[in-house]
Amino acid sequence: MFTFSSIKQYHQFLSTSTNGCTQAVQHYLAKIEENKHLNAYLEVFAEEALSKAAQLDADRAAGKPLRKLHGVICAIKDVICYKGHKVGASSKILEGFTSIYNATVVEKLLQEGAIIIGRNNCDEFAMGSSNENSAYGAVKNALDESRVPGGSSGGSAVAVQAGLCMFSLGSDTGGSVRQPADFCGIIGIKPTYGRISRYGLIAYASSFDQIGIFSTDIQDTALVLEVIAGADDFDSTVSVKPVPSYSQEVAEPNKKYRFAYFKEVLEHEGLDKEIATNIKGYIAKLQEEGHTVEPVDFSLLPYVVPTYYILTTAEASSNLSRFDGVKFGYRADLKPSDDLTTMYKKTRSEGFGKEVQRRILLGTFVLSSGYFDAYFTKAQQVRKLLCDKTSEVFSSYDAILCPTVPTTAFKIGEKSNDPIEMYLADIFTVFSNLVGVPSISIPLFKHSNGMPFGLQLMSNHFEETMMLNISKGLLERK
Ligand code: GLN
Repeated sequence: MFTFSSIKQYHQFLSTSTNGCTQAVQHYLAKIEENKHLNAYLEVFAEEALSKAAQLDADRAAGKPLRKLHGVICAIKDVICYKGHKVGASSKILEGFTSIYNATVVEKLLQEGAIIIGRNNCDEFAMGSSNENSAYGAVKNALDESRVPGGSSGGSAVAVQAGLCMFSLGSDTGGSVRQPADFCGIIGIKPTYGRISRYGLIAYASSFDQIGIFSTDIQDTALVLEVIAGADDFDSTVSVKPVPSYSQEVAEPNKKYRFAYFKEVLEHEGLDKEIATNIKGYIAKLQEEGHTVEPVDFSLLPYVVPTYYILTTAEASSNLSRFDGVKFGYRADLKPSDDLTTMYKKTRSEGFGKEVQRRILLGTFVLSSGYFDAYFTKAQQVRKLLCDKTSEVFSSYDAILCPTVPTTAFKIGEKSNDPIEMYLADIFTVFSNLVGVPSISIPLFKHSNGMPFGLQLMSNHFEETMMLNISKGLLERK
């Protein structure tokens, strides 16, 4: 029987088999079919994956060298463009739309021999924390199907959690990779803003969006990051800094580090008591082992969620203005008497779901001339203060420790009628997007309710190697 524990183990298996990639694809196709009810995939590229696998097996038989992701089976969130394949941001407004080019990350995955097996369900336009905002139905958490997997990259998280691919790509604007990773008990990384090209990623909030990786093995995370990161002429916000060989450099997990944690976070009234106790106990353990772990003040905590929701909705209202029914995607049925404005209104009212409409309205409001200074400018000022705070913390510490989410995975439907409560679930994850630093959620804990939860680590800009090294150390001695 085919089993997968890491890309390294899989590549060893390939060396003992003549049709290993094909076997792997067959295995995943069967697993996806078996777990259809989880709703993690919107589409599976079965035929194509099988034919790529056959080609990759033949390449190897012909003696071609193994590429970094040779035959590695992955899935992509439905906001990442894959040429000739549908992409829809899980929205009705993009129904039937086919990508006409590859996202840079897709290009890089394919160049290294990866097989993209399908596209994953997500919250519409990546807006949500539970994957209940998809036009194609909610995704279920494989550990307890009455619970959400988190969002917005819920389908990509469950695809990895339930063993329906080897790794997957999501996008993280305010926690959409780390939060579902936490809820599903897997690893989720959001690299530094600008580490990975956003070319071909459907934009939500451009100054926050970053592609991230779900996996079950930290070395795999490092390897995939190494493949997809780096400069790109198609994205002027991407960094030209050379990409380290993360997979080689993540090797010294036993160093002693200087950690900070935010007192206000661990004392927060919304934080589940058991999560707080576990994290505090963990901090004490790290101190006993010789790491420095110290509290730092974070009086700005109450402002992070409002700041995030003002700035991201403002950016979203502009980014989503292109979906108007004129050139592509959904267009409402019109009466002969309907004029252009009516066409826009009907199309956008029918094509966008409730949450997306709420955010477009909110974003338009905070950008309107009468309120711009009161909301948008103020929020930009808070963002600057948060950036100053970040530089201050990282001048004395290697990393910040934090819970990823205040609770474990909640029940489907539990928060869907209360947007504010849903937004508050993002309180610990939006910070790193506001300031652009890398962050990761690693699965270290189990709650007495049976659900997993993670520890979030943040490091300074472009310090992914250290963050991965710390994660490796913590996971190894779990
Ligand atoms: N839950 C957050 C939101 O709804 C984060 C989304 C994301 O990271 N894409 O905005």
